[in-house]
Amino acid sequence: MRTYILAAALAAALPPSALAHERVLLAQAGKPAAPPDKLHKVEKLADGVYAIVTGRGGNMGLVVGEKFCVLVDGQFEDLVPGLLEAIRSVTPKPVKYLVNTHHHGDHTGGNRALEAHVQVIVSHVNARKHQATTPFTAEAAKKGGLPELVFGEADPAARGMLTLHVGDMELHLVHQAAAHTDGDVMVGIPQRRVLFAGDVFFNGMTPFIDTSTGGTLAGYLANLDFLLSFLPEDSKVVPGHGPVGGKADLVRFRAFLAAAQKHVAANPGKSGADLAATFDRKAFPGYTDIPGFLSWAAFFDLAAGRMPQPPGK
Ligand SMILES: [Zn+2]
Repeated sequence: MRTYILAAALAAALPPSALAHERVLLAQAGKPAAPPDKLHKVEKLADGVYAIVTGRGGNMGLVVGEKFCVLVDGQFEDLVPGLLEAIRSVTPKPVKYLVNTHHHGDHTGGNRALEAHVQVIVSHVNARKHQATTPFTAEAAKKGGLPELVFGEADPAARGMLTLHVGDMELHLVHQAAAHTDGDVMVGIPQRRVLFAGDVFFNGMTPFIDTSTGGTLAGYLANLDFLLSFLPEDSKVVPGHGPVGGKADLVRFRAFLAAAQKHVAANPGKSGADLAATFDRKAFPGYTDIPGFLSWAAFFDLAAGRMPQPPGK
């Protein structure tokens, strides 16, 4: 999350409505890339299943079958050469599918550069729509990189699911509720007890709830209740941001969000800053805001379903 600091000055100079994920991420995208071998870390989670993490953008996943592999999210365009190197360090097999967990640029910014290296880009129908129309991703999308295979319904309350068969594994691409955005997709692999949660899970920090594309705190809780109802105890859960965790981390995240929701409901009309000042953070040790990107006050504005207010208001 350190990398978000780069964009802090830019974000601070913009009106509150401009606290758009893409704006901050665009600033990041302009950063010169570190040498690939230092940037991408490949973490083996199970047989044929890997997390690929870097200090920039969202976590990624790699699933390797007998004939081909699947990439979950592709981060930024300038990091694609290093990403391909990281994939080649694991397998020479072709990447058949690239799954986008949602439309934000720190997860789809690599789509265009990856088009030559993958066969099909897959997303929820709303994620494709947002990628084509929201600021910053839309400009890039005109040149390519839009998903070709979409599933789910425009109504984010409708559950959507698509299954990819990869060797002996099934990859369940599931949209359950509008949490981070209204086009969220999680990728579960029951045979390996691994879940790539995308940004419906921020491990150890306040989540960015993109209210501008339908994200809601209630949707976060609905998603977590759904996951906790069936995930085995020893599951590995890869968040969109933060370290790889397990079911206990999801339980902790749910407790934190439920407390935030209760706090918002008990203090109607209060500003994000007021809500942040009176929230019992000590009850959630280890939880932080996202420095330079999402303050506690901004988080509480989003939790209340509003756009963040400028500092000092
Ligand atoms: Zn996101």
